[in-house]
Amino acid sequence: MTASELINPATEELLRTVEQTSLAGVDDAVARAKAAQRDWARLAPGDRAAALRSFAAAIDAHVDELAALEVANSGHPIGNATWEAGHVRDVLQFYSATPERLSGKQIPVAGGLDITFNEPLGVIGVITPWNFPMPIAVWGFAPALAAGNAVLVKPAEWTPLTTIRIGELAVEAGLPPDLFQVLPGKGSVVGERFVTHPDVRKIVFTGSTEVGTRVMAGAAAQVKRVTLELGGKSANIVFDDCDLDKAAATAPYGVFDNAGQDCCARSRILVQRNVYDRFMELLEPAVKGIAVGDPAAKGTEMGPLVSKSHWESVASYVPDDAPVAFRGDAPSGPGYWFPPTVLIPERSDRTVREEIFGPVVAVLPFEDEADAIELANDTPYGLSGSIWTDNLSRAIRVSRAVESGNLSVNSHSSVRYNTPFGGFKQSGLGRELGPDAPLSFTETKNVFYAIGDA
Ligand code: NAD
Repeated sequence: MTASELINPATEELLRTVEQTSLAGVDDAVARAKAAQRDWARLAPGDRAAALRSFAAAIDAHVDELAALEVANSGHPIGNATWEAGHVRDVLQFYSATPERLSGKQIPVAGGLDITFNEPLGVIGVITPWNFPMPIAVWGFAPALAAGNAVLVKPAEWTPLTTIRIGELAVEAGLPPDLFQVLPGKGSVVGERFVTHPDVRKIVFTGSTEVGTRVMAGAAAQVKRVTLELGGKSANIVFDDCDLDKAAATAPYGVFDNAGQDCCARSRILVQRNVYDRFMELLEPAVKGIAVGDPAAKGTEMGPLVSKSHWESVASYVPDDAPVAFRGDAPSGPGYWFPPTVLIPERSDRTVREEIFGPVVAVLPFEDEADAIELANDTPYGLSGSIWTDNLSRAIRVSRAVESGNLSVNSHSSVRYNTPFGGFKQSGLGRELGPDAPLSFTETKNVFYAIGDA
Protein backbone atom coordinates (compact mmCIF):
# COMPACT_ATOMS: atom_id res chain seq x y z
CA MET A 1 0.00 0.00 0.00
CA THR A 2 1.11 3.56 -0.61
CA ALA A 3 -0.11 6.60 1.29
CA SER A 4 -1.33 9.95 0.00
CA GLU A 5 -1.08 13.27 1.83
CA LEU A 6 -4.17 15.39 2.41
CA ILE A 7 -3.81 19.17 2.65
CA ASN A 8 -6.26 21.49 4.42
CA PRO A 9 -7.19 23.87 1.56
CA ALA A 10 -7.86 26.81 3.90
CA THR A 11 -4.44 26.65 5.61
CA GLU A 12 -2.24 24.58 3.26
CA GLU A 13 -1.24 22.50 6.30
CA LEU A 14 -0.80 18.74 6.15
CA LEU A 15 -3.97 17.21 7.54
CA ARG A 16 -3.40 13.48 7.40
CA THR A 17 -2.04 10.69 5.26
CA VAL A 18 -4.35 7.99 3.95
CA GLU A 19 -3.43 4.49 2.79
CA GLN A 20 -4.22 3.81 -0.87
CA THR A 21 -5.93 0.55 -1.74
CA SER A 22 -3.89 -1.71 -4.03
CA LEU A 23 -5.19 -3.77 -6.94
CA ALA A 24 -5.03 -6.92 -4.80
CA GLY A 25 -6.89 -5.05 -2.06
CA VAL A 26 -9.72 -4.24 -4.47
CA ASP A 27 -9.98 -7.86 -5.61
CA ASP A 28 -10.12 -9.03 -2.01
CA ALA A 29 -12.81 -6.46 -1.17
CA VAL A 30 -14.90 -7.52 -4.17
CA ALA A 31 -14.73 -11.19 -3.14
CA ARG A 32 -15.83 -10.37 0.43
CA ALA A 33 -18.57 -8.04 -0.80
CA LYS A 34 -19.89 -10.74 -3.12
CA ALA A 35 -20.29 -13.17 -0.22
CA ALA A 36 -21.83 -10.53 2.06
CA GLN A 37 -24.33 -9.52 -0.63
CA ARG A 38 -25.82 -13.02 -0.80
CA ASP A 39 -26.57 -12.98 2.94
CA TRP A 40 -27.89 -9.40 2.79
CA ALA A 41 -30.30 -10.18 -0.04
CA ARG A 42 -31.60 -13.21 1.90
CA LEU A 43 -32.39 -11.15 5.02
CA ALA A 44 -36.04 -10.37 5.66
CA PRO A 45 -36.99 -7.01 4.07
CA GLY A 46 -37.92 -5.60 7.47
CA ASP A 47 -34.49 -6.50 8.85
CA ARG A 48 -32.72 -4.76 5.97
CA ALA A 49 -34.92 -1.71 6.53
CA ALA A 50 -34.07 -1.69 10.24
CA ALA A 51 -30.34 -1.95 9.48
CA LEU A 52 -30.53 1.09 7.18
CA ARG A 53 -32.44 3.03 9.83
CA SER A 54 -29.71 2.20 12.38
CA PHE A 55 -27.10 3.40 9.89
CA ALA A 56 -29.05 6.68 9.51
CA ALA A 57 -29.21 7.05 13.29
CA ALA A 58 -25.43 6.55 13.57
CA ILE A 59 -24.88 9.30 11.00
CA ASP A 60 -27.29 11.56 12.88
CA ALA A 61 -25.28 11.08 16.08
CA HIS A 62 -22.08 12.13 14.25
CA VAL A 63 -23.26 15.01 12.07
CA ASP A 64 -21.00 17.53 13.79
CA GLU A 65 -17.95 15.28 13.58
CA LEU A 66 -18.54 14.58 9.87
CA ALA A 67 -19.11 18.27 9.18
CA ALA A 68 -15.86 19.24 10.92
CA LEU A 69 -13.97 16.64 8.88
CA GLU A 70 -15.38 18.08 5.64
CA VAL A 71 -14.44 21.61 6.66
CA ALA A 72 -10.84 20.49 7.22
CA ASN A 73 -10.51 18.19 4.22
CA SER A 74 -12.52 20.06 1.57
CA GLY A 75 -12.81 23.65 2.83
CA HIS A 76 -16.61 23.59 2.80
CA PRO A 77 -18.19 26.28 5.01
CA ILE A 78 -19.39 24.73 8.26
CA GLY A 79 -23.06 25.53 7.51
CA ASN A 80 -22.87 23.70 4.18
CA ALA A 81 -20.90 20.78 5.63
CA THR A 82 -23.45 20.32 8.42
CA TRP A 83 -26.25 20.23 5.84
CA GLU A 84 -24.28 17.67 3.79
CA ALA A 85 -23.83 15.33 6.76
CA GLY A 86 -27.52 15.64 7.65
CA HIS A 87 -28.35 14.89 4.02
CA VAL A 88 -26.56 11.52 4.33
CA ARG A 89 -28.89 10.65 7.21
CA ASP A 90 -31.95 11.85 5.29
CA VAL A 91 -31.13 9.89 2.14
CA LEU A 92 -30.54 6.74 4.19
CA GLN A 93 -33.83 7.27 5.99
CA PHE A 94 -35.68 7.83 2.71
CA TYR A 95 -34.35 4.60 1.18
CA SER A 96 -34.76 2.59 4.37
CA ALA A 97 -38.41 2.27 3.26
CA THR A 98 -37.34 0.56 0.02
CA PRO A 99 -36.70 -3.03 1.12
CA GLU A 100 -40.31 -3.40 2.24
CA ARG A 101 -41.73 -1.63 -0.83
CA LEU A 102 -39.69 -2.98 -3.73
CA SER A 103 -42.59 -4.91 -5.13
CA GLY A 104 -42.70 -6.30 -8.64
CA LYS A 105 -45.81 -6.69 -10.75
CA GLN A 106 -48.39 -9.38 -11.32
CA ILE A 107 -49.32 -9.21 -14.98
CA PRO A 108 -52.51 -10.78 -16.32
CA VAL A 109 -51.66 -13.47 -18.90
CA ALA A 110 -53.38 -16.56 -20.29
CA GLY A 111 -52.69 -20.03 -18.84
CA GLY A 112 -50.83 -19.08 -15.71
CA LEU A 113 -49.47 -16.50 -13.32
CA ASP A 114 -46.89 -13.92 -14.39
CA ILE A 115 -44.81 -12.11 -11.81
CA THR A 116 -41.86 -9.73 -12.05
CA PHE A 117 -39.15 -9.63 -9.40
CA ASN A 118 -36.66 -6.77 -8.84
CA GLU A 119 -33.48 -8.76 -8.27
CA PRO A 120 -30.38 -7.03 -6.88
CA LEU A 121 -27.42 -6.75 -9.26
CA GLY A 122 -24.75 -7.93 -6.78
CA VAL A 123 -21.69 -5.77 -6.05
CA ILE A 124 -21.92 -2.08 -7.00
CA GLY A 125 -18.87 0.19 -7.45
CA VAL A 126 -19.47 3.85 -6.58
CA ILE A 127 -16.77 6.31 -7.73
CA THR A 128 -17.11 9.83 -6.35
CA PRO A 129 -15.55 13.24 -7.09
CA TRP A 130 -14.04 15.66 -4.57
CA ASN A 131 -16.63 18.43 -4.72
CA PHE A 132 -19.45 16.94 -2.61
CA PRO A 133 -17.93 13.82 -1.03
CA MET A 134 -20.79 12.99 1.34
CA PRO A 135 -23.93 13.70 -0.72
CA ILE A 136 -22.64 12.07 -3.89
CA ALA A 137 -21.52 8.91 -2.07
CA VAL A 138 -24.89 8.43 -0.34
CA TRP A 139 -26.86 9.00 -3.58
CA GLY A 140 -25.17 5.84 -4.82
CA PHE A 141 -24.79 3.64 -1.78
CA ALA A 142 -28.15 4.17 -0.03
CA PRO A 143 -30.51 3.07 -2.85
CA ALA A 144 -28.04 0.34 -3.89
CA LEU A 145 -27.93 -1.19 -0.40
CA ALA A 146 -31.69 -0.77 -0.06
CA ALA A 147 -32.23 -2.77 -3.24
CA GLY A 148 -30.22 -5.67 -1.80
CA ASN A 149 -26.74 -5.00 -3.19
CA ALA A 150 -23.27 -4.77 -1.64
CA VAL A 151 -21.42 -1.49 -2.26
CA LEU A 152 -17.79 -0.50 -2.64
CA VAL A 153 -17.10 3.24 -2.62
CA LYS A 154 -13.96 4.81 -4.02
CA PRO A 155 -13.77 8.41 -2.81
CA ALA A 156 -11.77 11.05 -4.69
CA GLU A 157 -8.04 11.16 -3.84
CA TRP A 158 -8.20 14.66 -2.31
CA THR A 159 -11.28 14.22 -0.13
CA PRO A 160 -11.68 10.69 1.29
CA LEU A 161 -12.04 11.45 5.01
CA THR A 162 -15.79 11.77 5.47
CA THR A 163 -16.48 8.73 3.28
CA ILE A 164 -13.99 6.65 5.31
CA ARG A 165 -15.74 7.75 8.52
CA ILE A 166 -19.18 6.93 7.07
CA GLY A 167 -17.85 3.42 6.30
CA GLU A 168 -16.79 3.02 9.95
CA LEU A 169 -20.17 4.27 11.17
CA ALA A 170 -21.94 1.70 8.99
CA VAL A 171 -20.10 -1.08 10.81
CA GLU A 172 -20.68 0.54 14.22
CA ALA A 173 -24.39 0.67 13.34
CA GLY A 174 -24.41 -3.08 12.73
CA LEU A 175 -24.15 -3.42 8.96
CA PRO A 176 -22.08 -6.48 7.95
CA PRO A 177 -18.48 -5.17 7.54
CA ASP A 178 -18.00 -6.61 4.05
CA LEU A 179 -21.33 -5.35 2.72
CA PHE A 180 -20.34 -1.68 2.54
CA GLN A 181 -16.64 -0.94 2.13
CA VAL A 182 -14.77 2.28 1.46
CA LEU A 183 -11.64 1.87 -0.67
CA PRO A 184 -9.57 5.06 -0.85
CA GLY A 185 -7.11 5.11 -3.71
CA LYS A 186 -6.28 6.20 -7.19
CA GLY A 187 -8.78 6.39 -10.03
CA SER A 188 -6.29 4.61 -12.27
CA VAL A 189 -6.05 1.69 -9.80
CA VAL A 190 -9.23 1.32 -7.72
CA GLY A 191 -11.62 3.06 -10.14
CA GLU A 192 -10.34 1.18 -13.18
CA ARG A 193 -10.47 -2.15 -11.34
CA PHE A 194 -14.15 -1.52 -10.55
CA VAL A 195 -14.64 -1.15 -14.29
CA THR A 196 -12.70 -4.29 -15.29
CA HIS A 197 -13.65 -6.62 -12.42
CA PRO A 198 -16.33 -9.05 -13.65
CA ASP A 199 -17.97 -9.30 -10.20
CA VAL A 200 -18.63 -5.56 -10.00
CA ARG A 201 -21.96 -5.49 -11.78
CA LYS A 202 -22.59 -1.77 -11.97
CA ILE A 203 -20.57 1.46 -11.77
CA VAL A 204 -22.05 4.66 -10.42
CA PHE A 205 -19.60 7.30 -11.56
CA THR A 206 -19.73 10.99 -10.72
CA GLY A 207 -16.98 13.19 -12.07
CA SER A 208 -15.72 14.78 -15.24
CA THR A 209 -17.22 14.01 -18.62
CA GLU A 210 -13.73 13.03 -19.79
CA VAL A 211 -13.24 10.25 -17.22
CA GLY A 212 -16.93 9.28 -17.37
CA THR A 213 -16.56 8.64 -21.09
CA ARG A 214 -13.65 6.27 -20.36
CA VAL A 215 -15.63 4.49 -17.65
CA MET A 216 -18.54 3.97 -20.03
CA ALA A 217 -16.25 2.67 -22.79
CA GLY A 218 -14.56 0.27 -20.37
CA ALA A 219 -17.89 -0.92 -18.97
CA ALA A 220 -19.10 -1.70 -22.50
CA ALA A 221 -16.65 -4.62 -22.69
CA GLN A 222 -18.77 -6.47 -20.11
CA VAL A 223 -22.07 -4.76 -20.87
CA LYS A 224 -21.70 -3.49 -17.32
CA ARG A 225 -24.43 -1.17 -16.10
CA VAL A 226 -23.48 2.47 -15.52
CA THR A 227 -24.99 5.56 -14.02
CA LEU A 228 -23.00 8.64 -14.97
CA GLU A 229 -23.24 12.08 -13.36
CA LEU A 230 -20.86 14.33 -15.28
CA GLY A 231 -20.05 17.95 -15.99
CA GLY A 232 -22.29 20.96 -16.42
CA LYS A 233 -22.41 24.51 -17.79
CA SER A 234 -25.85 25.50 -16.68
CA ALA A 235 -27.76 28.64 -17.57
CA ASN A 236 -29.58 31.03 -15.28
CA ILE A 237 -32.05 32.75 -17.63
CA VAL A 238 -33.35 36.12 -16.44
CA PHE A 239 -36.34 37.52 -18.35
CA ASP A 240 -37.41 41.16 -18.19
CA ASP A 241 -40.75 40.30 -16.53
CA CYS A 242 -39.25 38.69 -13.40
CA ASP A 243 -38.60 40.04 -9.91
CA LEU A 244 -35.22 41.46 -10.96
CA ASP A 245 -34.13 42.37 -7.42
CA LYS A 246 -34.62 38.80 -6.28
CA ALA A 247 -33.03 37.34 -9.41
CA ALA A 248 -29.91 39.49 -8.92
CA ALA A 249 -29.72 38.96 -5.16
CA THR A 250 -29.83 35.17 -5.52
CA ALA A 251 -27.78 34.74 -8.71
CA PRO A 252 -24.42 34.61 -6.83
CA TYR A 253 -25.67 31.73 -4.69
CA GLY A 254 -26.73 29.86 -7.83
CA VAL A 255 -23.14 29.76 -9.02
CA PHE A 256 -20.73 30.52 -6.17
CA ASP A 257 -22.05 27.96 -3.70
CA ASN A 258 -19.21 25.58 -2.77
CA ALA A 259 -16.88 28.13 -4.45
CA GLY A 260 -18.45 27.22 -7.79
CA GLN A 261 -17.21 23.64 -7.46
CA ASP A 262 -20.69 22.42 -8.17
CA CYS A 263 -21.83 20.46 -11.21
CA CYS A 264 -25.14 22.38 -11.00
CA ALA A 265 -23.49 25.82 -10.85
CA ARG A 266 -25.40 28.29 -13.00
CA SER A 267 -22.14 29.49 -14.50
CA ARG A 268 -23.78 31.31 -17.42
CA ILE A 269 -26.19 34.09 -16.47
CA LEU A 270 -28.29 35.01 -19.52
CA VAL A 271 -30.09 38.35 -19.13
CA GLN A 272 -32.68 39.90 -21.43
CA ARG A 273 -30.98 42.89 -23.06
CA ASN A 274 -33.54 45.54 -21.99
CA VAL A 275 -32.90 44.80 -18.27
CA TYR A 276 -29.21 43.88 -18.58
CA ASP A 277 -27.76 47.18 -17.26
CA ARG A 278 -30.13 47.27 -14.29
CA PHE A 279 -29.40 43.60 -13.52
CA MET A 280 -25.64 44.25 -13.47
CA GLU A 281 -26.15 47.22 -11.10
CA LEU A 282 -28.05 44.94 -8.73
CA LEU A 283 -25.66 42.00 -9.14
CA GLU A 284 -22.53 43.90 -8.13
CA PRO A 285 -23.40 44.50 -4.44
CA ALA A 286 -24.75 40.94 -4.19
CA VAL A 287 -21.43 39.50 -5.40
CA LYS A 288 -19.37 41.84 -3.23
CA GLY A 289 -21.53 40.91 -0.23
CA ILE A 290 -20.64 37.20 -0.28
CA ALA A 291 -18.83 36.27 2.93
CA VAL A 292 -15.63 34.53 1.77
CA GLY A 293 -13.31 33.28 4.50
CA ASP A 294 -12.52 30.73 7.20
CA PRO A 295 -14.78 27.77 6.44
CA ALA A 296 -14.92 26.84 10.13
CA ALA A 297 -16.47 30.22 11.04
CA LYS A 298 -20.25 30.45 11.30
CA GLY A 299 -21.60 32.84 8.69
CA THR A 300 -18.97 32.04 6.05
CA GLU A 301 -20.67 31.55 2.71
CA MET A 302 -17.71 30.60 0.54
CA GLY A 303 -14.46 28.85 1.40
CA PRO A 304 -11.29 28.18 -0.59
CA LEU A 305 -10.87 26.04 -3.69
CA VAL A 306 -10.06 22.42 -2.95
CA SER A 307 -6.40 22.27 -3.99
CA LYS A 308 -3.47 24.15 -5.47
CA SER A 309 -3.72 22.45 -8.85
CA HIS A 310 -7.43 23.17 -9.04
CA TRP A 311 -6.75 26.82 -8.12
CA GLU A 312 -4.30 27.00 -11.03
CA SER A 313 -6.88 25.52 -13.39
CA VAL A 314 -9.55 28.06 -12.33
CA ALA A 315 -7.09 30.99 -12.45
CA SER A 316 -6.20 30.12 -16.06
CA TYR A 317 -9.71 31.29 -17.05
CA VAL A 318 -9.11 34.77 -15.62
CA PRO A 319 -5.88 36.11 -17.17
CA ASP A 320 -4.92 39.77 -16.67
CA ASP A 321 -6.80 40.87 -19.79
CA ALA A 322 -9.99 38.90 -18.94
CA PRO A 323 -13.26 40.85 -19.43
CA VAL A 324 -13.92 41.23 -15.69
CA ALA A 325 -17.04 43.26 -14.78
CA PHE A 326 -16.41 43.09 -11.02
CA ARG A 327 -15.13 40.74 -8.32
CA GLY A 328 -15.90 39.99 -4.70
CA ASP A 329 -13.42 39.61 -1.86
CA ALA A 330 -11.16 36.75 -0.80
CA PRO A 331 -8.62 36.43 2.01
CA SER A 332 -4.92 36.71 1.23
CA GLY A 333 -2.25 34.54 2.80
CA PRO A 334 -2.23 30.75 2.97
CA GLY A 335 -5.14 28.85 1.43
CA TYR A 336 -6.42 28.38 -2.11
CA TRP A 337 -8.59 31.51 -2.18
CA PHE A 338 -10.24 32.80 -5.30
CA PRO A 339 -12.64 35.77 -5.27
CA PRO A 340 -16.12 35.51 -6.81
CA THR A 341 -15.57 36.81 -10.33
CA VAL A 342 -18.07 38.12 -12.88
CA LEU A 343 -17.02 38.12 -16.56
CA ILE A 344 -18.75 39.74 -19.55
CA PRO A 345 -17.23 37.73 -22.41
CA GLU A 346 -18.25 37.10 -26.03
CA ARG A 347 -20.57 34.16 -26.67
CA SER A 348 -17.73 32.19 -28.27
CA ASP A 349 -15.29 32.60 -25.35
CA ARG A 350 -14.00 29.47 -23.58
CA THR A 351 -15.36 30.83 -20.28
CA VAL A 352 -18.85 30.52 -21.84
CA ARG A 353 -18.29 27.01 -23.19
CA GLU A 354 -16.10 25.14 -20.67
CA GLU A 355 -16.87 24.02 -17.14
CA ILE A 356 -14.56 26.15 -14.97
CA PHE A 357 -15.66 24.60 -11.67
CA GLY A 358 -14.71 27.66 -9.66
CA PRO A 359 -16.28 30.99 -8.61
CA VAL A 360 -16.29 32.47 -12.11
CA VAL A 361 -19.51 33.35 -13.92
CA ALA A 362 -20.12 34.67 -17.44
CA VAL A 363 -23.00 37.12 -17.96
CA LEU A 364 -24.42 37.39 -21.49
CA PRO A 365 -27.31 39.45 -22.89
CA PHE A 366 -30.05 37.85 -25.02
CA GLU A 367 -32.75 39.33 -27.24
CA ASP A 368 -35.92 37.29 -26.83
CA GLU A 369 -37.28 33.92 -25.68
CA ALA A 370 -36.05 32.05 -28.77
CA ASP A 371 -32.55 33.51 -28.41
CA ALA A 372 -32.46 32.61 -24.69
CA ILE A 373 -33.40 28.99 -25.42
CA GLU A 374 -30.85 28.70 -28.23
CA LEU A 375 -28.11 30.14 -26.06
CA ALA A 376 -29.01 27.97 -23.06
CA ASN A 377 -28.87 24.83 -25.23
CA ASP A 378 -25.67 25.80 -27.04
CA THR A 379 -23.53 23.46 -24.91
CA PRO A 380 -22.76 19.74 -24.86
CA TYR A 381 -23.94 19.69 -21.24
CA GLY A 382 -27.47 19.63 -19.79
CA LEU A 383 -27.54 19.19 -16.06
CA SER A 384 -29.26 22.07 -14.34
CA GLY A 385 -30.52 25.62 -14.77
CA SER A 386 -32.86 28.36 -13.60
CA ILE A 387 -35.54 30.43 -15.29
CA TRP A 388 -36.67 33.75 -13.85
CA THR A 389 -40.01 35.00 -15.13
CA ASP A 390 -43.40 35.94 -13.72
CA ASN A 391 -45.13 34.83 -16.93
CA LEU A 392 -46.49 31.33 -16.27
CA SER A 393 -46.84 30.41 -19.93
CA ARG A 394 -43.27 31.46 -20.62
CA ALA A 395 -42.04 29.50 -17.58
CA ILE A 396 -43.70 26.37 -18.94
CA ARG A 397 -42.54 26.91 -22.53
CA VAL A 398 -38.93 27.60 -21.59
CA SER A 399 -38.64 24.86 -18.97
CA ARG A 400 -39.84 22.35 -21.58
CA ALA A 401 -37.44 23.70 -24.21
CA VAL A 402 -34.21 23.80 -22.19
CA GLU A 403 -32.37 20.49 -22.63
CA SER A 404 -31.49 19.87 -19.02
CA GLY A 405 -32.33 17.36 -16.30
CA ASN A 406 -32.97 19.68 -13.35
CA LEU A 407 -34.54 23.09 -13.71
CA SER A 408 -35.94 25.52 -11.19
CA VAL A 409 -38.24 28.45 -11.88
CA ASN A 410 -37.70 31.55 -9.74
CA SER A 411 -35.22 29.71 -7.51
CA HIS A 412 -31.91 27.88 -7.77
CA SER A 413 -32.77 24.59 -6.17
CA SER A 414 -31.48 21.41 -7.81
CA VAL A 415 -31.30 18.62 -5.32
CA ARG A 416 -33.96 17.08 -3.16
CA TYR A 417 -33.51 13.48 -2.09
CA ASN A 418 -37.10 12.64 -3.03
CA THR A 419 -36.94 13.95 -6.61
CA PRO A 420 -34.89 12.57 -9.53
CA PHE A 421 -31.52 14.08 -10.39
CA GLY A 422 -29.34 13.66 -13.47
CA GLY A 423 -28.26 15.06 -16.79
CA PHE A 424 -29.21 15.36 -20.45
CA LYS A 425 -26.60 15.07 -23.21
CA GLN A 426 -22.99 14.84 -21.95
CA SER A 427 -23.97 15.65 -18.37
CA GLY A 428 -24.76 12.04 -17.71
CA LEU A 429 -26.76 8.91 -18.09
CA GLY A 430 -29.49 7.66 -15.76
CA ARG A 431 -31.01 9.31 -12.72
CA GLU A 432 -30.16 9.26 -9.03
CA LEU A 433 -32.40 10.06 -6.06
CA GLY A 434 -36.20 10.16 -6.10
CA PRO A 435 -38.57 7.25 -5.67
CA ASP A 436 -37.20 5.21 -8.61
CA ALA A 437 -33.46 5.19 -7.85
CA PRO A 438 -33.45 1.72 -6.22
CA LEU A 439 -34.81 0.22 -9.47
CA SER A 440 -31.60 1.22 -11.23
CA PHE A 441 -29.80 -1.20 -8.89
CA THR A 442 -31.99 -4.14 -9.87
CA GLU A 443 -32.68 -6.36 -12.86
CA THR A 444 -36.29 -7.07 -13.70
CA LYS A 445 -36.90 -10.81 -13.76
CA ASN A 446 -40.12 -12.06 -15.33
CA VAL A 447 -41.39 -15.51 -14.28
CA PHE A 448 -44.37 -17.27 -15.83
CA TYR A 449 -45.90 -20.04 -13.70
CA ALA A 450 -48.03 -22.35 -15.81
CA ILE A 451 -51.20 -23.39 -14.00
CA GLY A 452 -52.35 -26.90 -14.80
CA ASP A 453 -55.96 -28.05 -14.82
CA ALA A 454 -57.47 -29.25 -11.53
P1 NAD B 1 -12.70 13.27 -12.05
O1 NAD B 1 -13.40 12.76 -13.26
O2 NAD B 1 -11.30 13.72 -12.21
O3 NAD B 1 -12.68 12.15 -10.90
C1 NAD B 1 -13.85 11.57 -10.39
C2 NAD B 1 -13.51 10.25 -9.74
O4 NAD B 1 -13.08 9.34 -10.76
C3 NAD B 1 -12.38 10.30 -8.72
O5 NAD B 1 -12.68 9.45 -7.64
C4 NAD B 1 -11.20 9.77 -9.50
O6 NAD B 1 -10.21 9.18 -8.68
C5 NAD B 1 -11.87 8.72 -10.36
N1 NAD B 1 -11.11 8.33 -11.55
C6 NAD B 1 -10.11 9.01 -12.18
N2 NAD B 1 -9.66 8.30 -13.24
C7 NAD B 1 -10.39 7.17 -13.29
C8 NAD B 1 -10.40 6.06 -14.17
N3 NAD B 1 -9.57 5.97 -15.21
N4 NAD B 1 -11.30 5.06 -13.95
C9 NAD B 1 -12.17 5.13 -12.92
N5 NAD B 1 -12.19 6.16 -12.04
C10 NAD B 1 -11.32 7.18 -12.23
O7 NAD B 1 -13.64 14.43 -11.49
P2 NAD B 1 -13.37 15.40 -10.25
O8 NAD B 1 -12.37 16.41 -10.71
O9 NAD B 1 -13.12 14.63 -9.01
O10 NAD B 1 -14.81 16.08 -10.08
C11 NAD B 1 -15.21 17.19 -10.80
C12 NAD B 1 -16.16 16.80 -11.92
O11 NAD B 1 -17.26 16.08 -11.40
C13 NAD B 1 -16.77 18.01 -12.60
O12 NAD B 1 -16.75 17.82 -14.00
C14 NAD B 1 -18.20 18.02 -12.10
O13 NAD B 1 -19.12 18.66 -12.94
C15 NAD B 1 -18.47 16.58 -11.96
N6 NAD B 1 -19.60 16.37 -11.05
C16 NAD B 1 -20.80 15.96 -11.55
C17 NAD B 1 -21.89 15.81 -10.71
C18 NAD B 1 -23.23 15.38 -11.22
O14 NAD B 1 -24.03 14.94 -10.43
N7 NAD B 1 -23.48 15.47 -12.51
C19 NAD B 1 -21.75 16.04 -9.34
C20 NAD B 1 -20.50 16.45 -8.87
C21 NAD B 1 -19.43 16.59 -9.73
